[in-house]
Amino acid sequence: MSKKLLLKDAHIEGIRYFETYRKQGGYTAAEKALKMTPDEILEEVKASGLRGRGGAGFPTGMKWSFLAKPEGVPRHLVVNADESEPGTFKDRYLMEFLPHLLIEGMLISSFTLGSNVSYIYIRGEYSWIPDILEEAIEEAKAAGFLGKNILGTGYDLEIYVQRGGGAYICGEETALLESLEGKRGNPRLKPPFPAVKGLWERPTVVNNVESIAAIVPIIDITGAEYAKIGVGRSTGTKLISACGNINKPGVYEIDMTITVEEFIYSDEYCGGIKDGKKLKACIPGGSSVPIVPANLLLRTVNGEPRYMNYESLADGGFATGTMMGSGGFIVLDEDQCIVEHTMTLARFYHHESCGQCTPCREGTGWMHKILKKIEKGEGKMEDIDLLWDIQRKIEGNTICPLGDAAAWPVAAAIRHFRDEFEWHVKNPELSQTQNYGLAHY
Ligand code: SF4
Repeated sequence: MSKKLLLKDAHIEGIRYFETYRKQGGYTAAEKALKMTPDEILEEVKASGLRGRGGAGFPTGMKWSFLAKPEGVPRHLVVNADESEPGTFKDRYLMEFLPHLLIEGMLISSFTLGSNVSYIYIRGEYSWIPDILEEAIEEAKAAGFLGKNILGTGYDLEIYVQRGGGAYICGEETALLESLEGKRGNPRLKPPFPAVKGLWERPTVVNNVESIAAIVPIIDITGAEYAKIGVGRSTGTKLISACGNINKPGVYEIDMTITVEEFIYSDEYCGGIKDGKKLKACIPGGSSVPIVPANLLLRTVNGEPRYMNYESLADGGFATGTMMGSGGFIVLDEDQCIVEHTMTLARFYHHESCGQCTPCREGTGWMHKILKKIEKGEGKMEDIDLLWDIQRKIEGNTICPLGDAAAWPVAAAIRHFRDEFEWHVKNPELSQTQNYGLAHY
């Protein structure tokens, strides 16, 4: 059984309220941290090996150490709660059921970074959660954990919740900052990076909800103890939101030592494939990471078991592996059509492209149109190669990672499931009435 650090109290009734959270030991990590120096806290975070839980997996302690500290210029912490990646809903769970864990993590992080005004930028579709967060902020303030002179230390902190307008691109950190400043959420060219010029050109750290929540157990048990959980550079625990054709969709906390097979089939997690069907493929890190067929998902090309961690999921690179990404684990059974699935994703990325760069703006639309044509049985064999060519021209040629995020699913689908694309081309009539999955199993 995986160790629980973030969700250990999630089952307790009323844990979203300050009184219950406090009774369970809440805010003791913050009390401990406020007696330490910011540098000491930073060393704990570095020692923990925590990697950003939003998708990129960049070491959090290192990110914090890049924060510029020019004399007299305010600094900010911004929590990225714009969780819009298809298949990912673990931050929603944290904010809805454990809002004080996030606020306590923000208090410790803001104190470390020297931020007196910090923000939570939350996606517009999570319409009911800002009220939960604002209520928790008021409770924390009433108890002396936010506001002026927190716990008599002389440190002041205000936290504001800002609702997004429903654009996926605002999950990209610089687009988020533009939106937070009241502008259209267009990604910025980097450099300068937010750590130097972020919100209102001030040094800013943008971190995911789960990353900031993880700061609480790190301070609680120490960075060194946190680093002992997990394996290699995949330290601590990770939240996974599991969905698709499984018996038990939901949010699970894993310690990154379990195998993918155990995660899918064990009753403790996904509970196996729905209706006893066969596993066909999985996207383990949210819709932007490469899809992997069952054989490569359960084992690496060397026959080693594949584990639920950053290194093992990526084993073999994009040709045979994938990425941990945001932890949005999407499972597809034998009846699912990869072409239809890829087309749905292409439509999503085309819709969400901000339109600033040509390869993304035009390429995502072309990919969607071609996929639609193939899926309807109106495609030609050359269309598959054209699709491959377009995704190659998008990848690495755009301002922000949305271009790559749109290209990778198409590349992986063609690489691993070319036979399904060809089947649609060769069977125009059949592809209008059923899909490859149903026709072949
Ligand atoms: Fe906008 Fe796409 Fe370019 Fe990102 S890659 S800046 S979303 S057009």
